[in-house]
Amino acid sequence: MQLSDKDKQYYYNLKKGYEGECLFDTFIEKLQCDCLVLNDLLLKTNNSTYQIDSLLILSDSIDIFEVKNFEGDYYYQSDRIYKRPKTEIMNPLTQLTRTESLFRQLLQNLGYRISINAYVVFINPEFTLYQSPLDKPFIFPTQIHRYLKQLNTIPSKLSRNHRILADKLLSLHLEDSPFKQIPAYDYDRLQKGIMCGFCNSLLDFVEGNKCICVQCGHPEIIESAVMRSVKEFKLLFPDKKITTNIIHDWCNAVPSKRRISRILNKNFQMVGVHQWAYYV
Ligand SMILES: [Zn+2]
Repeated sequence: MQLSDKDKQYYYNLKKGYEGECLFDTFIEKLQCDCLVLNDLLLKTNNSTYQIDSLLILSDSIDIFEVKNFEGDYYYQSDRIYKRPKTEIMNPLTQLTRTESLFRQLLQNLGYRISINAYVVFINPEFTLYQSPLDKPFIFPTQIHRYLKQLNTIPSKLSRNHRILADKLLSLHLEDSPFKQIPAYDYDRLQKGIMCGFCNSLLDFVEGNKCICVQCGHPEIIESAVMRSVKEFKLLFPDKKITTNIIHDWCNAVPSKRRISRILNKNFQMVGVHQWAYYV
């Protein structure tokens, strides 16, 4: 469906933020020191919910990171951050301070006394922050690798207690994000069809065993393309039953209903008979 400009902007921001977090994950994964990394934790302390993009448990401290994928020229003025020429954005330090404070309280509640270092990581190499004060816990794109290298030189030896703490934090992770704002949608208003797994454009009519995207040339076995669409369907409509008819309609591009039925039979278990049958 067509998203409103506001939703589109929101989506692009989320996507950009997510890509930034993934990029930081690939850096932090390469750490050689004895440490534990927890990504994308959603926690609640004293009824306040907060998210930690990345958390690093070392023997003597815990580092938490707020990852920002800002791109372009920004400047710092009176504790505010502006994108040039003059659009104020949320100062990530505000969020970081709140997160750090709540997380410290959580550790105290759990009976841990371990020091916390909190940083904002600007991950995008095309990011510049003019007038940035020296005393802020910012890690700029040109400093990330040095920062991680320096971590590798700190002698760190984790104990069983550190692992217990990591498990405890994972068990406290909330699955459902209250930050999620999904635009309203319903089945009838959505355009049907299978999207290319590579470029997301809609695939036309498919026959034979493979579908090939007209836009990017990406080939895919039909069964895998259909199952990808079923997965999307389940995500969008968790309460709807999976039936041959609805998946045939949903995929649109596969003309043969029998073929859809064969794919569903192979990948799911059928419940019920005839027109009441559905898949689980
Ligand atoms: Zn494509």
